[in-house]
Amino acid sequence: MDEIVRPTRVEVDLKQLTENFRLIKEQTSPSKVMAVLKANAYGNGLVRVAELMQELNADYLGVAVLEEGILLRQSGINLPILVMGGMLGNQIPIFLKYDLTMTASSIEKLNQIDAAADQMKVKATVHLKIDTGMERIGVHYYNAEKFLEASVKCKNVNVEGVYSHFASSDSSDLSYANLQLERFLEVLNFYTKNSIETPIRHISNSGGILQMPEANLDLVRPGILLYGVYPSNDVKRTLVVKPTLSWKSHVVYFKAIKPGHPVSYNSTYKPDELIRAVTVPVGYGDGYFRSMTHKAEVLIRGKRYPVIGAITMDQIVVNIGKDSSFNGDEVILIGSDGVNSITCEELANWAGTIPYEILTNINTRVPRIYR
Ligand SMILES: *Cc1c(COP(=O)(O)O)cnc(C)c1O
Repeated sequence: MDEIVRPTRVEVDLKQLTENFRLIKEQTSPSKVMAVLKANAYGNGLVRVAELMQELNADYLGVAVLEEGILLRQSGINLPILVMGGMLGNQIPIFLKYDLTMTASSIEKLNQIDAAADQMKVKATVHLKIDTGMERIGVHYYNAEKFLEASVKCKNVNVEGVYSHFASSDSSDLSYANLQLERFLEVLNFYTKNSIETPIRHISNSGGILQMPEANLDLVRPGILLYGVYPSNDVKRTLVVKPTLSWKSHVVYFKAIKPGHPVSYNSTYKPDELIRAVTVPVGYGDGYFRSMTHKAEVLIRGKRYPVIGAITMDQIVVNIGKDSSFNGDEVILIGSDGVNSITCEELANWAGTIPYEILTNINTRVPRIYR
């Protein structure tokens, strides 16, 4: 199997993923855990990660879009699945058909869901989305009472949960996150005030799990932390998780380059002495960002070497100086050889982005291998 796939592959360490999940579960107990698997499980592979979460008895899965939920159902996943993104009214029958939990983010949507469920003679499961300060989707906290009232009246809707989302729980300054939590709890008073059973309450993402245990409530929604990456540099590392994803390739070509002979498109790099260089079959067409040009480094045979010249769609050139390397040598783009490592945080710095974008951009052209 290994031999027939591309020399470039993502390796996912399922043991480490299990370990990270257990640590999060332990730290946030007795809250339920919703494993967030959107964007191909942060590059780790949607279906395989979902299967593992099912084996580990995760309480819930979270995805962003309808198609992700459908793929999981078609792959035999029967855990409850919340689709967290915004949706259109004409998608509602498909949500119902696949037994996916909907995010209701307005009274209008709620009524559309109620009507569709009535027509299909099923009960729709929804989580109500409250906007406590993200201004993305959800009913504003200051208008939420009418929304909750309307939700109670929908006969064909089971309001299983009510949730919100933090804008900056991974920051060292938690004042805005605390304000959001306060607003959310205030909204939730509706239930006790009216003696209505409170649905599952949730607001916490990775940053919240690490820094705001008081926000765990009934369920937490870890995304990036599950994959062993911290949501920011500033966040307190109250849990020790380790990366699950490595990105590796292999040397496919070796050459010497004469001084003054430019490398790659637009000739932006010229060696000033004779160098040895290897070509590695990965590029921005795989999600190895072109913006890392003149910054990126890789590991070969336990040493760090710079990528030279423009990163192209499918190939990069690495300067190994006076060292030796041979066709087939492993090249680590993200990961560790036991002694040295290159993290997705480093790639994020080179590309001027955040680790989330690095992980979610390793595209499906790169085969995933599970260990
Ligand atoms: C992406 C997402 C999460 C997970 O965020 P992380 O920072 O990766 O933990 C949780 N909730 C919602 C609504 C999301 O969109």
